[in-house]
Amino acid sequence: MTQDRWRFCSKCFGLWFSGNPDNGVCPAGGAHLAGSGNYSLQTDPGPDQDNWRWCHKCEGLYYNGNVARGVCAAGGAHDVAGSGNYVLQFAAGAGQDNWRWCQQCQGLYFNGNPTNGVCPAWRGAPGDTQHTSAGSENYTLSLTIEQGQPRVSGNASAVLNPQPPLKPNLQITVGGSGFPINISGHLDVAIVEGGRRIASGKVDTNAVGEFNFSKTLEPIPPGVNDGDVWTATAAIGGVTASGDVFVATFPPSP
Ligand SMILES: [Zn+2]
Ligand SMILES: [Zn+2]
Ligand SMILES: [Zn+2]
Repeated sequence: MTQDRWRFCSKCFGLWFSGNPDNGVCPAGGAHLAGSGNYSLQTDPGPDQDNWRWCHKCEGLYYNGNVARGVCAAGGAHDVAGSGNYVLQFAAGAGQDNWRWCQQCQGLYFNGNPTNGVCPAWRGAPGDTQHTSAGSENYTLSLTIEQGQPRVSGNASAVLNPQPPLKPNLQITVGGSGFPINISGHLDVAIVEGGRRIASGKVDTNAVGEFNFSKTLEPIPPGVNDGDVWTATAAIGGVTASGDVFVATFPPSP
């Protein structure tokens, strides 16, 4: 059997399950972003490696075969309760490779970008905040690109600027997928709250019709509250999609 609706999160680079009403807890802050293609995992016994599990606390996939259960973005260690037993394939074969196990958090993340996302084992700590591929196999995941079904979603989180005078700022991240890939020009992104335009800009889609847009607002604009839900709209070549941007302005601690 296979289970789809697993997604790459463009904030933390981890793999997480998008089939539940909420988007879990992202180590980069807020919830995971659902803008990626559709990944499928198999639960049939296979030749490669089983005991990969879904964590109901953070929605992420992690390896449960070590004594340590890693570090969960929702706090404490990951929790196996309610999970199937997922079998990952080592590299070779159809799909997208360069998925790696992170020995710090036990999670699975995509290693094919210039940076390695955000690891929950380092949340709030100084120094390197990224996942590490040290000691990992090269895993290949089955990936379906969902063209023609454009989707947009995002988060806005208050974070503390590490430079004095330590003013909090608001980091807005919007991701999307399913946009046309054969149209030249930029994708227009706008984030609005009621009639008020919070942020806007132009970005390029990548080779599979995905985009990521981020903006930092400093200081945090007045009237921004925990639990607000804004609307993000992305448009290119006559294709428009809108989605929710979830706002978390929890007071960041120095
Ligand atoms: Zn994430
Ligand atoms: Zn977890
Ligand atoms: Zn990690």
